[in-house]
Amino acid sequence: MNTFLNEKSNGKKMVDKVFKAAVAANIAKEKHGDKVVNATLGTLFDENGNFVALKSVWGPYETIKDVQKAKYAASIQGNPGFRDAVYNWLFGGLEEKIECEIIATPGGAGAISSTLKNILSPGQTVLKPSQGWGPYKTMAVECGLTLTDYNMFKDGEFDLVDFKNSLNTVMDNQGKVLVIINDPCHNPTGYSLRPDEWDDIIVILNNLSKKGPVILLNDVAYIDYTVQGDSWKNHFAKYNKLEKNVMTIIAFSCSKTLTAYGARVGAQIVISKDKVQLETFKDAAIYSARSIWSTVNNSAMELFSLIAHDSYLLSIYKKEKQKYINLLEERAQIMISEAKEVGLELYPFVEGFFVTIKVPDNKEKEALNLKLQKANIFTVEVDGGLRIAICSVPKRKLQGLSKRILDLM
Ligand code: PLP
Repeated sequence: MNTFLNEKSNGKKMVDKVFKAAVAANIAKEKHGDKVVNATLGTLFDENGNFVALKSVWGPYETIKDVQKAKYAASIQGNPGFRDAVYNWLFGGLEEKIECEIIATPGGAGAISSTLKNILSPGQTVLKPSQGWGPYKTMAVECGLTLTDYNMFKDGEFDLVDFKNSLNTVMDNQGKVLVIINDPCHNPTGYSLRPDEWDDIIVILNNLSKKGPVILLNDVAYIDYTVQGDSWKNHFAKYNKLEKNVMTIIAFSCSKTLTAYGARVGAQIVISKDKVQLETFKDAAIYSARSIWSTVNNSAMELFSLIAHDSYLLSIYKKEKQKYINLLEERAQIMISEAKEVGLELYPFVEGFFVTIKVPDNKEKEALNLKLQKANIFTVEVDGGLRIAICSVPKRKLQGLSKRILDLM
């Protein structure tokens, strides 16, 4: 049959579960007003239901000159000041140096999809967490890749045994492994790996690298919302313990970090002891950038550099952001304690923007979601459960929510 689209693209259709659920919630809100619990959106809202745009970020933005806002970026790889700022943001507190290359990308999504595209060939398999961010799938399919899950949890902890076995199976099949981790503050569960779990992961990756190249893609979209604050970033020193046959790509995003979701700025930070491979990856990433999005938003890169390089601006930014980390903790506390009290099963949670109700069976999950929608509670269907975005629901609406949900199960 003749079609205008090519074989691969003909029939492609994006059904974004988050946006779909958000639309349903907005329609309900028009009818039922404040009764509606809209727990769909992964962006910060305050206790009055207002979208949070940090003043310590968007105030300084006004000082950026029009020409900077109008200009193209200084280079396809990203402005040198921005790259330097990203290095210091992530690794500035470390005693040791991290050998890396940094490439600016349109958000974390740009960093992840460019990595998938350049690391694996069509037909190959990428590993992702069993409970993970939905677009990993879309991006993999767009690159012609298949996906396989490693199981996230066993007995309330990270399932290291399944992680090791799943990675080994893929290595034995295709001689190379690309695995996505989304730590800290995993979306959708809110899990953060413990330091000892990370130590075990490092050992697993090093051992696996004796069989073939191993690529760890750590998506750190929520890194600036861990309750540990900047001390979490000491974690990155562990990447220096990785063998030469392991490459790490950190997918960094300014979306949550700066409440700058629409500004579309992020970065790939590529770490490897193999300097030749590091250079080769950088060249390929720059080539992809030029051929897909060209350059990244200049004013957003300038904004990030401005805040990161100015100790006064940085301190007020950190103070303002801390208020929301505290708020997230308070909201989580309500959800977690009440869920426990009434016996609503959640996936293991530590911190962050989301909690997820455990509903492994797809039919039961869809049925529950419909019942919840009828009761004006809007969540997002994710693998193995229903996600509640505590980042966007005020405390007063979280109170009693666990019981209301359980009563409908
Ligand atoms: N990774 C995760 C887990 C996310 O939840 C998001 C955004 O929701 C992103 C990456 C990427 O966001 P962006 O492309 O806006 O930086």
